[in-house]
Amino acid sequence: MPQIDTEGISLRAIRYSETSQIVTLLTREAGMVRVMGKGTFKKRQGPLDLLQVYRILLITKPSGALATLCEWECIDPLPGVRKTFEHLLAAWYKAEIAGFLAPEGEAFRVVYETVRDSLEDLDRGADPATNTLLFAGRMLGLSGYQPALDGCGTCGKPVPLRGTIHYEGGHLICRSCPKENSQRYGGSALALVRSLLSSAAADSTSVRYPPHLVIRAQEFLDDQFREITERDLRTVRYWKQWGSARGKAERVKAL
Ligand SMILES: [Zn+2]
Repeated sequence: MPQIDTEGISLRAIRYSETSQIVTLLTREAGMVRVMGKGTFKKRQGPLDLLQVYRILLITKPSGALATLCEWECIDPLPGVRKTFEHLLAAWYKAEIAGFLAPEGEAFRVVYETVRDSLEDLDRGADPATNTLLFAGRMLGLSGYQPALDGCGTCGKPVPLRGTIHYEGGHLICRSCPKENSQRYGGSALALVRSLLSSAAADSTSVRYPPHLVIRAQEFLDDQFREITERDLRTVRYWKQWGSARGKAERVKAL
């Protein structure tokens, strides 16, 4: 049975019996892998914690069966990722998107690198909302479902990204062409998305965008992921609930 020496990020962990755990890891060499960590609670290194980077040695099994975790060592604990609830949500968002784009058992090195780089930025102090936006833009680019944000999808005329823009079926629709079920987005938010999709990955610790644009651009990207995966992202739901709870708390404080 193949033995793999790789690096992985722990995305989910459940306790199994008194001393063991089942851990889902996004790995550099084997994509998403579920491993049985026998006796991890009894070992010197202790059990695997969530959202940390590990050097791991594992033995994979035929499809569907849990891999066996043989050795593990934490190489980056990423403490900044657990700084606030908002940081944690930003990290869970990455785990959720990676789960869709890195199928179990298939190597997708660039997805791994993107998740790790983005978690490191978050750990080094990036604003969670900007960090999430940049991550989502990069992952959408990698997914192969890039939206067309240049000309009108029906007549091909250029669509200036100003004011309210209609978007339908992965394309912009200009003012003159017929629309059936178009979504409407702000032109400047789409311009930001376009720049994220066309430029090389930026460092989310150093870029700054107006907060309202970050929110609108993120909504557009979340809508794209909803179309691709055909379901709502769980972390986006939490994010909205948390955001409205925080808004309410701030309103109460202001009274
Ligand atoms: Zn048109």
